[in-house]
Amino acid sequence: MKAYFQKIYQDGFERFVGELEQRMDIEEKTFVITANPETLMIGAETADFDEILKSDKTMIVPDGIGVVKAAQMLNLPVKERVTGVEIVQKLFELLNEKGRSLYMLGAKKEVLDKLLERIDKEYPNIQVKGAKDGYIKNKDAVFDEIVDAKPDVVLVALGIPVQEQLIYKHYDRFDKGIFVGVGGSFDVLSGTKKRAPEFFIKLNLEWLYRIVKEPKRIKRFYVSNVKFISKIQRMKRETNEN
Ligand code: UDP
Repeated sequence: MKAYFQKIYQDGFERFVGELEQRMDIEEKTFVITANPETLMIGAETADFDEILKSDKTMIVPDGIGVVKAAQMLNLPVKERVTGVEIVQKLFELLNEKGRSLYMLGAKKEVLDKLLERIDKEYPNIQVKGAKDGYIKNKDAVFDEIVDAKPDVVLVALGIPVQEQLIYKHYDRFDKGIFVGVGGSFDVLSGTKKRAPEFFIKLNLEWLYRIVKEPKRIKRFYVSNVKFISKIQRMKRETNEN
């Protein structure tokens, strides 16, 4: 877990997307993991995902407020949340401005279709190289297609950790591309699911809104967050003792 925190992006959203733009311009291959406490707990308990989080190939950004607060408790100057939804929105803007290309994999077919419609209307200069829903069986075959398409941005929305495992498995086959595991972002950006009202986001209570909207998340949320907090407290004690 310590190793994850040492990698977490500290400088906030604007700087981060500035860096992504530069990377897009020089075609530097990039793999972004958006982390909430649950992501880090899955890493701590799953060997292959632990390897992915620790790898030099990946960047970790603090998507959840729990990750920002935990980092601050550990005396790391992490400025603010850098959320998956906002990264995707910014990437759409950049791709549109630059006339660059996109491939999307994940979410339900109707969600993806709605999102494609929105892209067509609002970001007409994006070259959409392909889009496949997340319920087709052979996702490795989709990656064969993505390798051939050489898109500038690849968004994978299958949930944690499957989306990262799949990207990681195929990552070395690419020479360029910004790869992001984006969880439920397609649901939000297609208009299918609402993001929390601004009020909740400002007060750092987006997590609460999500739980109230989707009570099936409570158990998952509770288990991983309670474990996360005790892990952070232990790490903090160790830091203070040293
Ligand atoms: N999903 C998918 N295929 C699957 C399981 C999930 O495409 O087999 C999609 C789902 O439709 C949703 C996203 O993956 O769009 C996961 O969203 P969630 O909010 O659960 O993500 P997380 O909380 O894991 O970031």
